[in-house]
Amino acid sequence: MFDRKSSVIPRSLRLSTLITALLAAGCREPGARAFVIVGAPVTAIVHVRVIDGTGIPAKDDQTVVLQDGRIRTVGYASTVTPSAGAQIIDGRGRTVIPGLVGMHEHLFYQAEESGVPAQAAFARLYLASGVTTIRTAGTVDFKGDLHIKQRIDSGDLPGPKVHVTGPYLNARTAAPDPEAIAREVESQADRGATSFKAYMSLRAPELKAAIETAHARGLRVTGHLCAVGFREAAAMGIDNLEHGLAVDTEFYWDKQPDVCPNQGATVDQLTRADIATDSGIHRTIADLVRHGVAVTSTLAVYESFTGDESAFDPRMPGVLTSWVRKVYDAKRPDWIDRETPRARMWAAMRTKEMQFERAFVAAAGQLLAGVDPTGWGGIVAGFGDQRELELLVEAGLTPEAAIQVATSNGADFLYESDHIGTIAATKQADLVLVRGNPSANISDVRNVEIVFKDGVGYDPAALIAATEGTVGRDDVRHFLRWPLNIIPITLIVVLLERLVLRRFRRRAFKPAVSAP
Ligand SMILES: [Zn+2]
Repeated sequence: MFDRKSSVIPRSLRLSTLITALLAAGCREPGARAFVIVGAPVTAIVHVRVIDGTGIPAKDDQTVVLQDGRIRTVGYASTVTPSAGAQIIDGRGRTVIPGLVGMHEHLFYQAEESGVPAQAAFARLYLASGVTTIRTAGTVDFKGDLHIKQRIDSGDLPGPKVHVTGPYLNARTAAPDPEAIAREVESQADRGATSFKAYMSLRAPELKAAIETAHARGLRVTGHLCAVGFREAAAMGIDNLEHGLAVDTEFYWDKQPDVCPNQGATVDQLTRADIATDSGIHRTIADLVRHGVAVTSTLAVYESFTGDESAFDPRMPGVLTSWVRKVYDAKRPDWIDRETPRARMWAAMRTKEMQFERAFVAAAGQLLAGVDPTGWGGIVAGFGDQRELELLVEAGLTPEAAIQVATSNGADFLYESDHIGTIAATKQADLVLVRGNPSANISDVRNVEIVFKDGVGYDPAALIAATEGTVGRDDVRHFLRWPLNIIPITLIVVLLERLVLRRFRRRAFKPAVSAP
């Protein structure tokens, strides 16, 4: 209908618009609705086993009724009659557990030396694996994390509920600068962080400033510390410590105040400790419990350093983009050897860490769980959270207690236990239907059939299928590799062409104007 000659859009601009549109279409993430398999206003899961997240033994033959996003009733199937019109799901041979509350999560994947943003892909993997709430534990792309949270909350993209932690708080100057750290906490909070991650180099005065600034705003601080030991941090009022004993430097024989010692040397020394009898370690546990400091278990990432077969999830490599896969494949041979001194040290540390975490739980410590999809890149979102549950059971917790750690303990820490973390009437309907019986075989948590978030049921298989080959796609470096590098190259060529053409035309035009 438009006269070509009357078009005011230059041809080269039309071309670049088309390329930009294609680029945007290529990156467009599938919407949340595409994965919904249960959307009825009332759903009843009948004759199902329930592990409710409080740590009590599983209950057989229950009926759980979900209505308008909440759990309306849960009780013995013989006593609960779903209303007419409810969508009935046969729960025989299946178990429901609360949606997992992952407390050491990231929305980036660790490829090469730096993290690769993977917000949309990881959000799908968390949800597919039954993780309905996450707290990120540090970020390489704060803006991206805030953006994905907003898109998930608006119902645009599939994913868990996200509690966003800001970028890592690190020491940046030779002498401690607590004012700078306080300013950084304020700035992160202003931008939307609800939690803060004190990192390894942070020194005592800086950590103290971070804690005080966060607490003044009613927000909480967790730490992967190194320059400061656990008991010192507990005395300052830190809320949460990540990774457990393996990163507690206070037992290192040559620990200097405010200096982060060599990690290998610290871990090596800890592998020689007898957790059952070491009075120093028990004093630390007692101190953490007394100060109400939670500890986040991240056994899956430790296992990824041991070279053990069990650390390699067969579902994992397929979710990586081809360029990230190449990076992973190049690193893998170095990490599958169980006989290297490093692998042996971490295998020993994993055992000590399990003993420590079990002792912490026995002392009424608040243990949380998370995946920490970093390290050398051996584990990813969601799958690693499931592995974490298996490892907690290997550490000696009952399956019900392990599930409690990964659900209601996290909800408690986030001050959200009035509406998530357990399966009880009036709670938000965040739950996971799995085939099998995790109370007998914890690995059945991997057999996810439906993940409910606010009563809406998502298809885990479709979420994983949509994630195949996408981890790393959000990273700009992705566009610098073949075949996608053709897009920025074409754009540059088109823009250069326009500039040259414009110059040429102006020059060609000039004499005509200036002629008398
Ligand atoms: Zn981490």
